Order: sequence, then structure tokens, then C-alpha cells
Amino acid sequence: MNIHEYQAKALLRSYGAPVSDGRVVLKAEEAKTKAGEMDGPLWVVKAQIHAGGRGKGKFKEESAGEAGGVRLARSVEEAAEEAKKMLGRTLVTKQTGDAGKQVNRIYIEDGSGIQTEMYLALLVDRQTSRVSFVASTEGGMDIEEVAEKTPEKILSFSVDPATGYQPFHGRRIAFNLGLEGKQVKQCVQLMATLYQMFVEKDMEMLEINPLIITDEGDLKCLDAKMGFDGNAIYRHPDIAELRDTTEEDPKELEASKYDLNYIALDGEIGCMVNGAGLAMATMDIIKLYGAEPANFLDVGGGATKEKVTEAFKIITSDPNVKGILVNIFGGIMRCDVIAEGVIAAVKEVGLKVPLVVRLEGTNVEKGKEIIQNSGLDVIAADDLKDGAQKIVKAVKG
Ligand code: GDP
Ligand code: MN
Repeated sequence: MNIHEYQAKALLRSYGAPVSDGRVVLKAEEAKTKAGEMDGPLWVVKAQIHAGGRGKGKFKEESAGEAGGVRLARSVEEAAEEAKKMLGRTLVTKQTGDAGKQVNRIYIEDGSGIQTEMYLALLVDRQTSRVSFVASTEGGMDIEEVAEKTPEKILSFSVDPATGYQPFHGRRIAFNLGLEGKQVKQCVQLMATLYQMFVEKDMEMLEINPLIITDEGDLKCLDAKMGFDGNAIYRHPDIAELRDTTEEDPKELEASKYDLNYIALDGEIGCMVNGAGLAMATMDIIKLYGAEPANFLDVGGGATKEKVTEAFKIITSDPNVKGILVNIFGGIMRCDVIAEGVIAAVKEVGLKVPLVVRLEGTNVEKGKEIIQNSGLDVIAADDLKDGAQKIVKAVKG
């Protein structure tokens, strides 16, 4: 689960990490009052969406001279004006995809004078099964690009969980970033704080880009992105509260209500499968025969007719879906229950694309019979390979 920059900064502030003073603005009318609560002379007006690259992003129908999703203002009036201009519009950045994201919240910040922009991140490194620090002098830029072109400019190391964070970790980062004097101490302290937050709050990712040296020579977190482990959110009601469902895929949101493991993808073949392993195999075989899956969907072992119906509705609501492959292995799940669910769903939402059904396992004969007698235009498949070939052929001709 991801949160907004202003929420991440409030969390940083509560742990004592250095961030600027700022106010969130939800309605255009509030912009001027909120901006007026800070002294200036510089204000930064920032679109709050769950995607990076806002500064270099562009609004849809952007007029000439507009400056993306992060704008500097020299007066309260100007800050309020910029906030109003951005609210409600759609911002497209490198990370949002072409559709972009609607801006519903603005963060107005007390502007900082910047000497240097650096990069810092903590993440769960799956290779070492540890928390890793990533630091670079190349801040404010796309870190993927730095990694590709000048990988030597990135420092990365993991922390042994048995000892946890130690001051030498912070010093290593400080010297690598070329920090001097009081900055070294600030860095050691800040890294300790970030590591503590990361572990205590079950984060997956914490990115400060840029981490800056201010005109006064102090370290400050100028941007903040945080991602939390969804499986641990139940332990953190304070974090769960920060969830902004308008930032999530509506299909994934709907699926989570019914406890379906659903992830939207870009392909054309909708898949309904039981079991994560079988779902992965189904996606692989669709690719093998030359098409792309439109989603990952595991209806789970104990799916009911209602759950199957909901799953089907979610798949068909995706306009990219040009065909559906139902691939069920009836173990705990009975094939006749799945068949009934599929039929109920088709009757309710209609079927405008080809549907291939492959059933195997408990009550398979009964399941096939239900589908055959339903009078619906369903293509039956004998096995996984047959099912994948049939749906790809139906979609691609
Ligand atoms: P992102 O583009 O979504 O990563 O948004 P950031 O918060 O990183 O802002 C983008 C850029 O705007 C930063 O790299 C800075 O160069 C600039 N910026 C952000 N805040 C300030 C500020 O307080 N003062 C100044 N001078 N520039 C800022
Ligand atoms: Mn940034």
C-alpha cells in the first residue's frame, strides 16, 4: 500500500526527521489561507498523486508556460493560484502511464533553498532477504537512468538484522555522498531514524528523492515516497487510515472486497483460475501461445458461486478483455459449483467475448454437463494446453 507525499512527510516529522513545513489543500477555497500560514518568500505547490516524476510531468490540456506538478511560487496569492489550477486536472508522468492520474489533493510547502540534491532509499532486498540502503549523489533524477548509465554512482548495501542499524552505516553513506562537518552527524542520525521507521512500520520501500543540503548546509527530506507491506497493514491501523482508494485500480479495489486475488494487467485475455500457482501457469501458457493475459486472478480454494460471479463481472468490466479463459482444478473446489457460478455470471452480465472453460477434478462430469446444458456459447477445453490454444485462436483468429 502506498501513501501520499504529505502523509509520508507527516510520518517523517513524527519521528523527528527534517522536513519542510507544509499544508494539504483539498478544496480550492482553502488554498490561500493555507499558503498564508507559512512565511515565504518561497512556496512550493505540489500535486499529490501516488506516482513520481511529477516535476517533469505534464497536465492534460496543459497551456504554454505551465510547469508540471511541482511549481514554485513567490507569494501567497501565486501559490493559491497554482494550487487552484492543478486541482481536479489529470497529471501524466513517467510513472502514471498515458491515462495519468487526477489530482485531488495539493501540498503547499515552505520552499527550501537547495545547495545539492541527492538520492536515498531503503527497500526490502529479496536477494539478501535484508533491508538495504541505496544512496547516490545523483539526486532529483530518475534513479533507473542513473543505474543504467552510471551504476558506479550508486552505493548500496544491506543491514544485518542481527545487529540492526549501526552508526557506521550512516557514516558510510555520508562519506559516499561527500557530506562534511555537521552534515555527517545529521546523516548518521537521519539514517537511524529512517531505518527504525522502516522496520517499525513494516515498509517495503522508502524513497527520499531528493534528499537535499539546504542553503544553510543542513540535510532535509524534500520528497518522500513510502510503500507498506499489504500483509502487515493489519498491525498498523494508523497507516491503514492513510489509504486513498481513489489512487487504486477500481477493479482491484472491487476484487479486494470479495477477497479475490486480482491484479490488472495490460493484455487481452481475461483469466479466472483457482490457486496462485495454476494462475501463474495459465498466464505463462497464454503468453506461450502468443497472447497476453489481461489479469491475474486467483478465486481461491473455497470460492462460492457468488465469488465466481463477482470475479466474472470484474473481468468483463475491463474493456481490454477480448476473450476469457476459465481454468479450474476442482480439489477443495467442486467443478459443478464453478460451472454454476460461471453460468450465473454470464446470465447476469452477458457475454460479448469468446469464453473457453477448462475444468478438471472433483465433479468434473457434472460441471461439464451443467455448462453443456446451459445453452450458452461456451467453448469446452480438454486440458490446459487445449484451453490456452483455443482462447488464443478465438481472440487472434
Ligand atoms: P517529483 O518530481 O515527483 O519527484 O517531485 P519532487 O518533490 O522530487 O520535486 C521535483 C523537484 O522540484 C525537486 O527535485 C526540486 O528540484 C524541486 N523542488 C521541490 N521542492 C523544492 C523546494 O522547496 N525548493 C526548491 N528550490 N526546489 C524544490
Ligand atoms: Mn522526487
